[in-house]
Amino acid sequence: MGDFVNIFKIDDNSLNIANYYVRHNMLVAFPTETVYGLGCNALSDDAVKRVYAAKGRPIDNPLIVHLPMDADYSRYVYDNDLSLSLRKAFLPGPLTMVYKSKGVVSPLVSCGLDTLAIRVPSHKGAQRFLKYVDLPIAAPSANVSKHVSPVTAMHVYEDFGDKLPMILDGGRCDGGIESTVLDVTGDVPVILRKGLITAEMIKSVVGACQYAVDGDALNKRSPGTRYRHYCPKVPSTLFGADEVQKAVEYYGELKNSDKNPVILCTTEVAENLKGLNVIDLGNTGAVMANRLYAALRESENYDHLIGIRFVVEDEIALGVENRFLKAFG
Ligand code: AMP
Ligand code: MG
Repeated sequence: MGDFVNIFKIDDNSLNIANYYVRHNMLVAFPTETVYGLGCNALSDDAVKRVYAAKGRPIDNPLIVHLPMDADYSRYVYDNDLSLSLRKAFLPGPLTMVYKSKGVVSPLVSCGLDTLAIRVPSHKGAQRFLKYVDLPIAAPSANVSKHVSPVTAMHVYEDFGDKLPMILDGGRCDGGIESTVLDVTGDVPVILRKGLITAEMIKSVVGACQYAVDGDALNKRSPGTRYRHYCPKVPSTLFGADEVQKAVEYYGELKNSDKNPVILCTTEVAENLKGLNVIDLGNTGAVMANRLYAALRESENYDHLIGIRFVVEDEIALGVENRFLKAFG
């Protein structure tokens, strides 16, 4: 890829180098079906410290451990029947499950919690990487803390440049928003973070599923949910789904004061805004999930982002709405 000396296609040669870096406790960014991850050896305190430092991530926001298909969970956590059924149904895929930890990986991964979050991504490049290095890989999203999550190798490069020894390029991520995080330590699974695997899908397999209620208890159980996330580096203003006219007037005001704003909205709304700078988010939850982060990054080519909220019509859209609102603070 021309000048981008640290971006590599995934092949035996690059995996061999990636393996060397991971085993020397350095960081390797890799693709998954949700977003790009910033991976490190989960067994090493030094390696995990590097992830927090590189991202500027608050040190009480725990990381997810990534394992290859058919990995032995019982090495790391106390397994249970509930999670076994869910694994059969949804893995590999965008479902992270939180277990009681056996304390085998670095304590910095879970920030001192007695639990451990594990995920088995379905992306072929991710699977090849995880199988090749054959170590548990702790990985948050591969963006500088608070910035928009990356869905291409170039997004990772935009945030870290040459500071990372290696970015494995597996193309654009399909899923687009992060995995569902599900606590399976109790009798009923509890969703800590909404994502592409929905409560309905989980219910259809194990009969029940709850959402953790926003607030202090959730912040303690899943500290990541407390922080500001997904912010583009331009000023932004959010309007309600029934405030399209107001949003257009505001766009006009910004234009008149020599600004170059852009409107982020659903396809339905976009069709009525011909002639304006518009980023079309799509109409269904799955499409919006796929487009959201690339859209937020694209908005950085303008100097003001105007968001118009959407009516949530399916469960994936609920996960998109959660990120969309956080992006506007
Ligand atoms: P990110 O790496 O940016 O996708 O964020 C990881 C998410 O997983 C955050 O929302 C964390 O709070 C959550 N998480 C990771 N480990 C745990 C754990 N042991 N218990 C609860 N939530 C976790
Ligand atoms: Mg993240």
